[in-house]
This record gives sequence, structure tokens and C-alpha cells, in this order.
Amino acid sequence: MHTLWHRTTGKPAHSDTRDKSAKTTFNKLWRATTGIIVGLALTGCNGLPIAQSEATATLEATATATTAPSATPSPTSTATLAPTATATALPTATPVPTLAPLRAEVKLDSPEVEQGSVGTIRVTTNRPTTLRGTIEEERQLFFFSPDGLHHMALVGVHALAPLGHQPLRLVIDSEDGQQLAFDTEIKVIAGDFVSESLQFTPEVAQLLDPKISEPENIRMMEVFNSSAPDAVWQGLFDWPVEGTITSEFGTRRLYQGEVNGFHTGLDIDGETGDTVLAAAPGVVVLAEELQVRGRVVIIDHGAGVMSGYFHLDEIGVEVGQEVEKGEPLGKMGSTGLVTGSHLHWEMRVGGVAVSPQEWLETDFAAFPTEQIEQVAAE
Ligand SMILES: [Zn+2]
Repeated sequence: MHTLWHRTTGKPAHSDTRDKSAKTTFNKLWRATTGIIVGLALTGCNGLPIAQSEATATLEATATATTAPSATPSPTSTATLAPTATATALPTATPVPTLAPLRAEVKLDSPEVEQGSVGTIRVTTNRPTTLRGTIEEERQLFFFSPDGLHHMALVGVHALAPLGHQPLRLVIDSEDGQQLAFDTEIKVIAGDFVSESLQFTPEVAQLLDPKISEPENIRMMEVFNSSAPDAVWQGLFDWPVEGTITSEFGTRRLYQGEVNGFHTGLDIDGETGDTVLAAAPGVVVLAEELQVRGRVVIIDHGAGVMSGYFHLDEIGVEVGQEVEKGEPLGKMGSTGLVTGSHLHWEMRVGGVAVSPQEWLETDFAAFPTEQIEQVAAE
């Protein structure tokens, strides 16, 4: 059993000018890790299923201290109006509104996430809240919520991320000024990646020059980090084209005999002219020719999630265009740094390249309705 939920801290909201820092207390209710084994079959390159377990923690803030300052005008006015009234009435005449304490249930679908995979954080609160958070102490998480009560963030784990624990910090704010802060961590475990060697013609190999690739990489990161806040997809992604996979995501790459990073997408074999389809609904945020990636379409699915379609022969969409799942984006080709005609399909979460295949098997946008009912019933 993993005990990765190691600490809960509660702090008063510092945006509030009322002095309640010394008064606010938090009950920390812990629900033992349930250890439910779910059969999510994450397939890495070797196709081995990886059992995942769930980790859940419930935290609660007591509201009495927080609400006390707002009740002070009431007792003072009562006292001046009726000084001779029965003193015993005074204590009962101070109506301290009992605001339900802010509660949050925080759940990781799995406390362990493979390199190049996606971790899911689900948070349910008993009244409307806003969430923010960081992973690795600096990378911002995209939280999205359909109703202010149910929140979710996807954590893209880099294919070359160091193994071990990565700190995860969440801050939950309610409209009335209560705040819960929560520190935990996810454990990065090794992905199973292979290595491959690529040989290019001298002409194509020129594109490996950092003078060409770096400005393009910077440009791509700007696009990947400009996602819309709300998720616009539901359910599973579809294959953008059918064909043999010729290079898996995460493959360590040797160009001209030297290690040159890893494969940030999935290569699907096909013929020039084959129609390439949108893997999920979204908005086109890039549709142009680049030197290394060739003719590229990038779709923003919201909440930090984007998909990329590289080396196209023709582009059939425009920036700003909304596309549905299965809508044609263009034609497969061999533009840019390639050895032949294929589609390079890429998935990004918070700017981090992750395994596209996971999106065909896992519904990352699903909200846990059973948690909603559980919190409402308490
Ligand atoms: Zn590729």
C-alpha cells in the first residue's frame, strides 16, 4: 500500500483582511487509501497492462472561526440598544451564522504515473470553489470544472522525467474566503521505451541544426502553452488515421548515431494523400508549414490538452476553426524532417508530450459523479 498522501495543511485565506489567522482551525479527516485496483490497461511500447490503484483523501475546514468576525457587528449593536435588558439574553442574541465547513475530497486515479503518461487529479468540494496547483514546484496545473464543485487537472509526466516523487500542491478557495491547501506527491515510474537509430540524407540532416530546430521548438511551446481553460472534448480520442505504427511514443532517438532526445509522438504509416482526421473536437491553433515538422495542424482541446498532426502534404483547416472528432484536417505527407510518408501524431498536456495511445483507451475528461452524490449526502 502506498502512503503517498503524507500531509494536509490548512491555512486561512490571506486575501481576506479580517484577522482570523490565529483562529482558523482545520480538521483533517483522512480516509484510508482504498487500494481499489482498477483495470486501466495502459499500454506502453511492450503492451503490458499496468495495474493502477486509487488514492483518496478528504479534508475539511471548520467554519466557526472564519465566520466569527462577520458576526461582531451584531452583538455590539444589541448591547448599546439594550444595556439594561437582561444580561442573560446577550449571549443568545449573538447569532453566529453556522456556515458549513469547506470540505474537499482529493483523489488521484493512480499515485504512480509512468514516464510519458498522464496523471489525473480529481477534487470534489461541497460548495463552489476555485482551484490552482503546481507540480514540480513550478509547473502550473490546468484545473477545469463544469460546476465549481467538481474539478479535474491532468498532469503530463515528461518521458524523460526523473524517477521518484514529484511534489504536488493544491490550493482550494471558496467564495466566502475559506481555503484549503494540500500537499502531496506523485511517484514517477519508468516507462518502457526502446531506442532507434535514424539516418537522414545530408540535405534533410541539415534540419537537425539547432539554429533551425530551436526557434521552431520555442514557437511550438508558445502554442502548446496557450490552451483554453475549459475542456471541449468528451470521451475517448479516435485514431487520426489507420495504419501500421512505425515508431512508438517515447522512443529514444539516435540521429546520425547520436542520442537526440526522444520521439514526442506516434508515427503512423500511410501514403501521401491519405486523409488525416481530428482525434477529438477542438479549435485549430496552428496550421502552417514549419521546417522540421513540415506542414502542421495543432488542435486545442482545452484544459491544457492539445493534439498535433505533422508532416502533412496538404492542410485543409484554418487557425480559429472549430473541428469535430473525425473531421478531415488535411492529407498525409512527407514534409519536414522525415524519412518517408507518414503521420506523426502528438499529444500534449500542459506543454508536455505524452503517449497518444493512452487517449484512445482512457476517458480523461470523465467526472466522478458518485463522488458528487457522496459529498452532497454528508
Ligand atoms: Zn514522429
